[in-house]
Amino acid sequence: MVRSKTITIVVRKRVEAKIIISKYPTILEVFRGRPFNVKFSLKNVGELGCYATGKVIDHRGYEYSDSVTLLPGEEREISVSAIKIDVEGSYKWTIRAYLDTFKLQDEKTFTVVVKKPEGIKIVEYPKEKTVGLEEAVVFDVKVRNNYEEMKTVRLELVDHEGEVRKKEFPISPDTTVLKEFYHPKIGKEGTYTWTLRAVNVTDGKLEDSVTIKIIVKKPEKPKYTVTVDWSGFSKPPYVKAYVQSDISRRRDFLPITINTEGWLRVSEIVLTTRRPATEGYVWQIEQKKWVYSKSSYPPPDTPVSLITFRRYSVNLSYKSKKVSDTVLTLTGVSSNGSVTLEFSVKRFGRREVKGEIIESNETVRFRWKCPVCGKVNENVEDKDRLEALGWKVAEMCKKCDVQSYVYLR
Ligand SMILES: [Zn+2]
Repeated sequence: MVRSKTITIVVRKRVEAKIIISKYPTILEVFRGRPFNVKFSLKNVGELGCYATGKVIDHRGYEYSDSVTLLPGEEREISVSAIKIDVEGSYKWTIRAYLDTFKLQDEKTFTVVVKKPEGIKIVEYPKEKTVGLEEAVVFDVKVRNNYEEMKTVRLELVDHEGEVRKKEFPISPDTTVLKEFYHPKIGKEGTYTWTLRAVNVTDGKLEDSVTIKIIVKKPEKPKYTVTVDWSGFSKPPYVKAYVQSDISRRRDFLPITINTEGWLRVSEIVLTTRRPATEGYVWQIEQKKWVYSKSSYPPPDTPVSLITFRRYSVNLSYKSKKVSDTVLTLTGVSSNGSVTLEFSVKRFGRREVKGEIIESNETVRFRWKCPVCGKVNENVEDKDRLEALGWKVAEMCKKCDVQSYVYLR
């Protein structure tokens, strides 16, 4: 009797990263003699994270490039600034996507149309935008004044129900202005056409008009919901951050609730006040980078709060977590949950420090250590002035902009 056994050998393709050019302009209209940007998106459709490079090659053979890191499924926009073209006409340009910097993966061509600059133009807007059922429609619009005089411009967004949202503002000659439009959720699946018009209010004429296609869709796959919030102090100031996932992205005040099917990234943390900081806030996001309310410059008698970012506390299921500087990246998210940005607050009342005189002639050079941020500052004052002040002078720290009294005697 013969017995046989079957052995199965599974041959798997090596898992790797694969880069495609997922979005790019087919036609890019620019103005003669003006520098411009080329924007396109690279997407990693492979199974491993990677470093990718996007290159734009112009009709003269000049290359413009930038690199990004991409997680599996992640898409990122690249914007490269190109050199101006001085002759009107159409030009063939190429975009190439490389894994690392040299392994060519994808290539697309597009046409650059160089036109004579004229009038007021909507130079950037979303031609098409897809949102979820419960999602508000938020997008940026760039409008340019090509006249040689200042003009007042009114942007009018007409939605599918004929409702008009307006923004009116002056634009300096030869200048581009960015405006954000917000439209509440539509809440019903379908494709909607909106119109965006640029009206020259100064001369009373319509200058430009474009259409925007809005697609409202129900989510197809099950998604996880993550809420990003902060703790450690009560507002104001407010905390703003950029929260991205494989299916959505938002830059807004926290809390932000976002859907994900895989990865999540929190970056660009900003603390901001919407009113004069009467309490004199000072804050620290990273050791090296200080952000503060420019309107405050708190004097020595104003209490200040030093707010420092400490850590992310993550309360959900995931595969891997990475924090570099203040950027948190989570991959393999597999539950609903929350991410909390933990801050600590230290309060400082009236600030007085002893200064150290380094040099004393008609002017006095002295050093003092900022009690809030620890920076050693150096200042010079007239001796006469110091005498008159009883050798006590208010100085502003060059790092955190907070004032302290410096005693020199
Ligand atoms: Zn300081």
